[in-house]
Amino acid sequence: MKLEQIRQIFKDTAYIRTGGSVEELKCAQYIQAKCAEYGLEARLEEFEVEMADILEAVLLVDGQEIPCKGYKCAGTETVEAPFYYLRNMDKYSLSQCKGKIVMIDGGMRRWVYQDLMDNGAVGFITYDGNANYVDDDMDQKELRKVVRLDTKMPGVNINAKSAIALVRDGAQNVKIVLKQNEYMGTSRNVVLDLPGETEEMIVLTAHYDSTSLSQGAYDNMSGSVSLLDMAEYFAKAPHRYSLRFVWCGSEERGLLGSKAHTAMHEEELKKMVLNVNMDMIGCIMGKFIAAVTAEEKLMNYVEYMAAEEGFGISVSQKVYSSDSTPFADKGVPALSFARIAPNNTATIHNRYDTMDVMSAQQMAEDMEFIRKFVDRMANAKRCPVARVIPDNMKEKLDIYLLRKRGELK
Ligand SMILES: [Zn+2]
Repeated sequence: MKLEQIRQIFKDTAYIRTGGSVEELKCAQYIQAKCAEYGLEARLEEFEVEMADILEAVLLVDGQEIPCKGYKCAGTETVEAPFYYLRNMDKYSLSQCKGKIVMIDGGMRRWVYQDLMDNGAVGFITYDGNANYVDDDMDQKELRKVVRLDTKMPGVNINAKSAIALVRDGAQNVKIVLKQNEYMGTSRNVVLDLPGETEEMIVLTAHYDSTSLSQGAYDNMSGSVSLLDMAEYFAKAPHRYSLRFVWCGSEERGLLGSKAHTAMHEEELKKMVLNVNMDMIGCIMGKFIAAVTAEEKLMNYVEYMAAEEGFGISVSQKVYSSDSTPFADKGVPALSFARIAPNNTATIHNRYDTMDVMSAQQMAEDMEFIRKFVDRMANAKRCPVARVIPDNMKEKLDIYLLRKRGELK
């Protein structure tokens, strides 16, 4: 793919496209049209996702209204209670949550939510954005099903500057008003099959959705472009293994596209010998990594190959927070490629993730390395990666996928 084509795709897709939105559909159709330009017929595979329209979200602290966004899928409720800032997760701190509206650091994760419920919190406040940025942005958050299970607790998200002010000024009494319509909607994966000499397949994935404030150039139109690059290449180039390309929807909402794909294609899982996932490549700054959720030998292979090619890389064996994980969880050896920018040079999930942080030249170099790796695997007489997930990775998968309580590194 030429540099100008790479830049053009970033320009064409410079809009917000959250999972289940019409903009996500527009981007899916754009990817489909790109495939058609290469003479390839990609299909859309739909799956259901939870949706919500926030009708009212108000946060009153000691009678003063604080700008907020209501959590989607957190129910419709009005609560009023004392304020508590939960700084630590020890038993004493948790015991102070009873009957309070609790502010936490970071996002609302499964075990934090469970602890709040168990300790009698009646509402919650999260904050994001950055106190040192000029903007007062706050992301539109949702209380995911995997976090809340069958319970609901009203919550709002505020900007970090507001959060600091609440603590600094000694907030006492908090009222949250949350009203919303909740319903089921549709997201979709874009799927392209390129049959090879054998029915066994290598699945190539990258998500194309974004978060609520982000154009998602880096996270992750970059990986989506890499998939297009390989679709164009393998449309003509030989490949012994069948290749399946999946541009995943709703990754940012909890890997929903890749989870849907492995669920919808359960019968085909046994034919999948490898998953190669791209999530965030081609930025101006930062180091290239491979995260291998497979046997250690694959780490060595990628390292050796990178040295042969003269390509800088750091390889580790881990569970990566991206679409490779549902495949690994179903027993398909998986690896993710990414170029990780220092976060004072490019950040994600905010208004600053635009093509300004991207380099078409770096994109081309990263895509070439990934393409060469896939080419070797796709033309192997036999894919050398053992179709096993090692025990140390299984434990990490249990933690990441919330079957087991714990922290990942
Ligand atoms: Zn991503």
